[in-house]
Amino acid sequence: MKINGNTKVIGFLGSTYRTSKMYDVYNSAFQALELNFVYVPFHGQDLKKAVEGIRNLGIAAVGVSIPYKVKIMKYCDDLDISSKRSGTVAVVVNQKGRLIGGTTDGIGAVNALKEQKVDLKGKKVVILGAGGAARDIAFNVSDKGGRVHILNRTIKKAQFLAQAIGSNVDYSGLKDLQIALRKADILINATSYGMANTETEEKSLVKPAWLRKGMVVMDIIGKPRKTKLLKDALKQECKVVYGHRMLLWQAVAKFKMYTGMDAPVTVMEKAMERVKDS
Ligand code: NAP
Repeated sequence: MKINGNTKVIGFLGSTYRTSKMYDVYNSAFQALELNFVYVPFHGQDLKKAVEGIRNLGIAAVGVSIPYKVKIMKYCDDLDISSKRSGTVAVVVNQKGRLIGGTTDGIGAVNALKEQKVDLKGKKVVILGAGGAARDIAFNVSDKGGRVHILNRTIKKAQFLAQAIGSNVDYSGLKDLQIALRKADILINATSYGMANTETEEKSLVKPAWLRKGMVVMDIIGKPRKTKLLKDALKQECKVVYGHRMLLWQAVAKFKMYTGMDAPVTVMEKAMERVKDS
């Protein structure tokens, strides 16, 4: 990698800037395509000033993570359709001084399903959760012709999301999950329930008996890779889709937003495997 006056800087803005594994993934991809880009951590203290810095320093783009995904919206000049619908920002692209926010959860999830040859058209899709990721996923699943049923602990949020998508979208609280799953072709856990290093690790919102052979079960949680839900799904002979694949397809989409070029998927995939346990 050769840094010079033309090097385009992509920054990462999030509380995990020290521990994020994505620097190697993006920089390997830039190198593979011989692009004069570099991906670096930013330690933002005052978010408003950090965003002004993107503009004033000519930073090409930033990847955005917790705790800024919602707060950064008001400092963007515009939002793309994915951010307008989901209410979160995962990427800010500097388009000649105009900062445009976008997100990639939905496209990442849909592509993780697509690589497992899951066709969403006409399928009944139960989505657990109504947070930032669930919102973008629900819109994208609906765009692909999936018949969405959203269930969330806070039912108001499920209702709000369902109504934002359209009148054909069902919503309920988690107590209706067993009934909803009876008719479902696909289940997507888009909650943080089951995440590593939390009190719900090794727990699932879904009882194993509610899963059926042949059902598609996706968990967007990336760590652990095999959540309790996915372990149960494998035992019930469901088709399983892993959260770390969604992460890869999100990175692929972000690469295109950062550079305007198609990502070298295999290079990024190998880099992700290399850094996963480091
Ligand atoms: P978020 O906006 O904070 O939403 C969290 C969701 O989880 C809400 O629907 C919340 O329900 C639900 N929830 C949390 N604790 C719960 C509990 N004890 N019981 C029932 N429901 C519970 O978070 P997010 O950004 O959407 O992320 C959700 C998860 O997806 C996280 O684990 C995140 O790491 C993961 N994720 C993965 C990827 C990927 O690429 N693989 C991308 C984005 C996010 P309430 O509304 O009732 O609070």
